[in-house]
Amino acid sequence: MRRAIYPGSFDPMTSGHVNIIERALEISDHLIVAVARNISKTAMFSVDERMEMIEEHFGDNPKLTVASFEGLLVDFAADNDCQAVIRGLRAIADFEYEYQMANMNRKLNDTIDTVFLMADPSNFYVSSRLVKEVAILGGDLHDVVPPTVRERLLDRVKSR
Ligand code: ADP
Repeated sequence: MRRAIYPGSFDPMTSGHVNIIERALEISDHLIVAVARNISKTAMFSVDERMEMIEEHFGDNPKLTVASFEGLLVDFAADNDCQAVIRGLRAIADFEYEYQMANMNRKLNDTIDTVFLMADPSNFYVSSRLVKEVAILGGDLHDVVPPTVRERLLDRVKSR
């Protein structure tokens, strides 16, 4: 696979996202992690903060670019010369939505295909939404987010 794009909210990036990014890097020449500027979702972190957290964790990796986008994913993917969209599949609950979206995207642009990576058993239960709830309720965040994200979550919860 040449160039791939991994879109999502990443509010914030979890260990599940990290696992998918690492595996996507193994099977692509270049990966764009693309943070969606989605106005319909109430976010804890700004798009810039979410991008910073991804960059902080992965450091300088010439195979990885962190970007943000709004509008149609397939347009952004085509503008950036990507042939594949990467998505992670956790549970049956993810499947229906992902199946619909993959087919709609293919209808919009049939030169771009979606590649699904199955969630690693060690973090298939991890979601950004649950991680934020655990942070707000003072639970242990080790293993579910990278250390840099954990620091930011604790700061954000303290300042609320
Ligand atoms: P979105 O709002 O687009 O669903 P998310 O940041 O929640 O954005 O998720 C982005 C992608 O990462 C989705 O394909 C989602 O299924 C996948 N993903 C999220 N958490 C995990 C996890 N723990 N393991 C594997 N894939 C995951």
